[in-house]
Amino acid sequence: MKFISVAIDGPVGAGKSTVARECAKRLGFIYCDTGALYRAVGLYCVRNGKKLEDPSEVAGCLDGINVGLSLVDGVQHVFLNGEDVSEEIRLPEMSMAASVVSAIPQVRGKLLSMQREAAEKNDVIMDGRDIGTVVLPNADVKIFLTAKPEIRAKRRYDELIKKGVETTFEDVLSDLNERDHNDSHRAVAPLKQADDAIFVDTSELDFGQSVELICGIVRERQNVL
Ligand code: C5P
Repeated sequence: MKFISVAIDGPVGAGKSTVARECAKRLGFIYCDTGALYRAVGLYCVRNGKKLEDPSEVAGCLDGINVGLSLVDGVQHVFLNGEDVSEEIRLPEMSMAASVVSAIPQVRGKLLSMQREAAEKNDVIMDGRDIGTVVLPNADVKIFLTAKPEIRAKRRYDELIKKGVETTFEDVLSDLNERDHNDSHRAVAPLKQADDAIFVDTSELDFGQSVELICGIVRERQNVL
């Protein structure tokens, strides 16, 4: 049986995870948030006092890291060496840690097969930075989701405040710009739109409209497969 794969890439705060999760629910697909994997590696390094900016130090500790994804009541949970770290990886400092370690080729190599396996056994919507370009280059649908930086920062800020995280809009915007710059300029698997991806700008769309639009694109593709 052929499973359908949908790759959604884009910069920080474009709404990839919230939109992808809802689309997956409506379409009956598995949702795979690949950023969570990089966050878990970053968390391990921070907890164990590894120098994030030293690629050989990070690469040297990868054998001690076992990252797993599993669905609990339909929601993706992330496990680091058996411990559920789904909440802790969402702390703002883990965003930057993930961005730094994600530029290390050995880190990307370690996480690649896990991501591909998820798409081999399920209809999947996977979001990240390099899904359409590297992880699933043959994905049935590729979407590059973005919005203006200030709008993305406002959405991310509201999300963090709702979760009780103390931060400011300025800090969120500067973190977003720094991460986007790191993610787009790294040598391995940089954030970029795949040639065959559909460009979707959600600056003028609300959550419901974004979900409708993407579900529509996937359904249209399903009809011709
Ligand atoms: O998507 P999220 O913000 O959770 O990702 C955290 C970081 O992980 C990103 O800033 C990026 O550096 C890295 N990442 C990546 N490739 C992916 C997903 C995330 O490099 N496919």
